[in-house]
Amino acid sequence: MIASFFVKSLQNQPSLVHGTSPRFYEIEKGERESFCPPENDNSGLFREHQKLFLQSLGIEKENLFRVKQVHGNRVYVLKDSKVFADEVSHQEADAIVTHLPDCPVMILTADCVPIIIYDPVKHVVGVVHAGRVGTLKRIFSNAIETFSREYGSRPSDMVVSMGPAIGGCCYEVDEQCALPFIERSSVNSRFVRKARAGKFFIDLPEANRLEGSEAGILKENIYTDGPCTSCENHRWYSYRKEGKTGRLMTLAMLRQRK
Ligand SMILES: [Zn+2]
Repeated sequence: MIASFFVKSLQNQPSLVHGTSPRFYEIEKGERESFCPPENDNSGLFREHQKLFLQSLGIEKENLFRVKQVHGNRVYVLKDSKVFADEVSHQEADAIVTHLPDCPVMILTADCVPIIIYDPVKHVVGVVHAGRVGTLKRIFSNAIETFSREYGSRPSDMVVSMGPAIGGCCYEVDEQCALPFIERSSVNSRFVRKARAGKFFIDLPEANRLEGSEAGILKENIYTDGPCTSCENHRWYSYRKEGKTGRLMTLAMLRQRK
C-alpha cells in the first residue's frame, strides 16, 4: 500500500487524478521499504517506483512527463501528445502545464513546495516545483500566467493545492537568504519571521499562497495545510533535515471529460 497525500478539493474533481508519494511504502503487512530513495533518479528502481505510484493512482500507462528542474521560473507547456517523455525530461523548467488527457505530469521535491494547479473550466492542469529560489523568481505566478496565456484560464476558476513541504516552523535561513523575502513582505510579513540572532524562518507555502491570492486565485481555492516535511520527517523526505535523501513524486493527470 502506498500512503500518498491527496487534497479533497482536487479529489472532488471528477476528471483529475493527483497525489504526492510518501517516503515509505508497505511491501507486506508491517514491512516497508523506501519509496523513490536517494540517488536513484535515473535508475531502474526509480522507474519501478514510478510505475508502482502510477498504478496506485489507477493509471495504466507507464509513460509520464517530467522536466529537468533547475530552481528557475520557466514553465514547460506540454501541447503535443506525440512528444517523447525523454525529450521533455531534458527541458530545463520548474513547472509543466498541459491540456492533454491521459498524460501524467510530475515534479520531484524534498522540502520545496509541490504545487498542483487545476482549471476545471478549461480542463487544464499543471505541477510546479517552488523552492526558495524558484519562489523568489515567481515560478508559481509564471505558471498561472501560462494557464491564462495558453488556454484563456481565469485565476478565479483555478483550484490549487500545496503538498508536503518544509513549513515556516522549520525552514530557518540566514539573513542573506531572508532579505529578499523581507523586502517582499514589507506589507504583509506572515511568511517571514525572526528566529535566533541573524536567522529567520521562511514559510514558503504561505509566500506562494499570497502570490496566488495576488494573482486572483480565490482564498477558498488554495489549499496550504499540507504536512511539514521536517516535522513529519518519518513520512516525507526532507533535504534540509537529512541531507542526501529521496524524493517525493507529485503527479497530476487529466482524464478525458465525458
Ligand atoms: Zn516543521
